[in-house]
Amino acid sequence: MLTKPEVIGTIEELRSRLIDAQSRIESERAGRGDDAGGTPRIVLVPTMGALHAGHLTLVRRARSLGEIVVVSIFVNPLQFGAGEDLGTYPRTLDADVAALAAEGVPFVFAPTSQVMYPDGDASTRVTAGTVGSLFEGAARPGHFDGMLTVVAKLFNIVGPDVAVFGQKDAQQVFLVERMLADLDFRTRIEVVPIVREDGGLALSSRNRALEPDQRAAARALSAGLADAASVAGQGAEVALQVAHARIDAEPLVKLDYLVVVDPRTFLPVRALHHGPARMLVAALVGHTRLIDNVALELP
Ligand code: AMP
Repeated sequence: MLTKPEVIGTIEELRSRLIDAQSRIESERAGRGDDAGGTPRIVLVPTMGALHAGHLTLVRRARSLGEIVVVSIFVNPLQFGAGEDLGTYPRTLDADVAALAAEGVPFVFAPTSQVMYPDGDASTRVTAGTVGSLFEGAARPGHFDGMLTVVAKLFNIVGPDVAVFGQKDAQQVFLVERMLADLDFRTRIEVVPIVREDGGLALSSRNRALEPDQRAAARALSAGLADAASVAGQGAEVALQVAHARIDAEPLVKLDYLVVVDPRTFLPVRALHHGPARMLVAALVGHTRLIDNVALELP
């Protein structure tokens, strides 16, 4: 039988509930004479809520990776710039908790900003370096410093063995992986492929803000990426031209960037690059900023 997740708002309570959960699992195992499992694994899925099927795919992966799943729901003010959608970002905690109950998630960590930033701001921050100021970071100065800072805090609060992220935010994945290596975190991350709706649009909490005509137009992004992937064997230039042709033909889509990066450095590919690469796109559709990406195999 599925029970409702415990929704926990403070760091102290979460830590003590996780210790309890680990010892309960260990004593249940001991009762069964099963001592093979080691310390029960804690798996974290960090989110900003307004959960959709993409998030739930991450949750299912998390459940397959460890015994104790924690989903955090926190709209992190530190990663929003002035004039961005912090105030209007969708907040649907009751529906989120109901969806997580259906997935058998035991713990939801939903702190307030006051809990996360008791002094009103984080004076110590993680800096994302050069890659943090490209692409999403160029459009959203400080975004990745804010994101890495909250991820570091969540990892210290939850102490996960594994954290699950979505490939949808490819630059985020790259930067989190780099932070974990650079700062010697013991947590490792798992990356889940992009979940799309019929028609290809990548699921996003921000899609709720799209009008029907905008939603239809937004499909040009995933369509352009798919076209590009299908001609990647002819090289990055051809792939870019093909994606541009599809996206530029859609007047409701205001392209911000379309680039091909080397997955090892997240810098734009050089002319001689061959093998795995990733095409990234970002655009405004109305006031809604959308991002997407696809893997390319360059000749
Ligand atoms: P967010 O709530 O937007 O911060 O996203 C929380 C996590 O869900 C991040 O790791 C995202 O990359 C991931 N995610 C969001 N949308 C998708 C999607 N369509 N497919 C896969 N992962 C996603």
